[in-house]
Amino acid sequence: MDKVYLDYAATTPLDPGVLSAMQPCLVGHFANPNSLHSSGREAFSVLEQARKRVSELLGAKMPSEIIFNSGGTEGDNAALFGLVAWNKAKKPLHLVVSAIEHHAVLHPAKRLASLGHEITYLAPGADGVVSPEDLRAAIKENTALVSIMTANNEIGSVQPIRELAEVAHAHGALFHTDAVQALGKCPIDLEHFGADAVSFSGHKIYGPKGIGVFYLRRKTSFLPQMLGGGQENGRRSGTQNVAGAVGFAAALERELENRADENQRLVTLRDHLIDEALSASSRVSLSVDPREKPGHYLPHIASLLVDGLESETMILRLDQRGFEVSGGSACSSSSLEPSHVLKAIGVSTDLAYGSLRISLGRYTTLQDIDAFVTALSEIL
Ligand code: PLP
Repeated sequence: MDKVYLDYAATTPLDPGVLSAMQPCLVGHFANPNSLHSSGREAFSVLEQARKRVSELLGAKMPSEIIFNSGGTEGDNAALFGLVAWNKAKKPLHLVVSAIEHHAVLHPAKRLASLGHEITYLAPGADGVVSPEDLRAAIKENTALVSIMTANNEIGSVQPIRELAEVAHAHGALFHTDAVQALGKCPIDLEHFGADAVSFSGHKIYGPKGIGVFYLRRKTSFLPQMLGGGQENGRRSGTQNVAGAVGFAAALERELENRADENQRLVTLRDHLIDEALSASSRVSLSVDPREKPGHYLPHIASLLVDGLESETMILRLDQRGFEVSGGSACSSSSLEPSHVLKAIGVSTDLAYGSLRISLGRYTTLQDIDAFVTALSEIL
């Protein structure tokens, strides 16, 4: 039985072209890029070329704003701990995070709260979008950091980052955004994006797992969280993953190449999936309707709610039929708690227990969608 993978928001397969770009670094340029001998200098040069390419593709002002790390989780942790810990002037500190952040932001926020800082969890509207006015109202005199994700991994809502960042800056707070899901889907031009720090991950864009990019705008005060050999200009110690960095740059290049056409193709598939799933059964509804506001949701995520069946049961039954999907996000799908994202947008607990996240990607076809809807109808 051929499997139909519909979980691209959890991770994507490695692009074969990315693998080819990485191969020489895994074998030839194996040397430590921090070694002074010629092989080390060669590896360093390959690493710096990758940094320069990423910086250009993302519209950073200078390559030194690009820090290679292990992925989105590390970037989010670095932002929350590293952008707050330096700030001794405002004490105790206040942070604002959206209530629909990934746990890589929410759990560090909880840790900061346990250390005496105050956190405001900003609720989005029922459409999953955070309003700049609500942010303005939440900010206090001692707000040091605002962290609001560019696009949500469960419901796909895209936030007005520039406006949100302006509100934070107008009140003297730094602004971080988790752009892990937005990369390749939303236009990102870092110099004009408004954020002081941004987290990205390679494995959501057909790149390798375990590599990420943390953008830190020049002159932003930051207390490094990973201490050691002082790599990455002292901001993230640890021998760099040269092959991973090359893979990230190659994956990003490919992801951005055909973005407008591919996003349009995904929107067409997603809307077809939604139309068909809604007409297949009156028990199916949507947590948000991306068809209502074109451009305000990621093109590849559909968040369905099924009345009277639990996510886990549906995921396993769909899996038996060859369809691979998620409940909420992949990392919370093993938990029996309903998704915090669905709760935050006002979905009832009962309905949230029956959530399905279908996420499409490069290899998804119309036939896959039709076959999925047939399988969904069968299990209902
Ligand atoms: N942030 C968001 C929005 C995500 O979707 C994910 C991955 O699911 C992460 C952070 C974590 O990224 P990584 O798996 O690279 O640590």
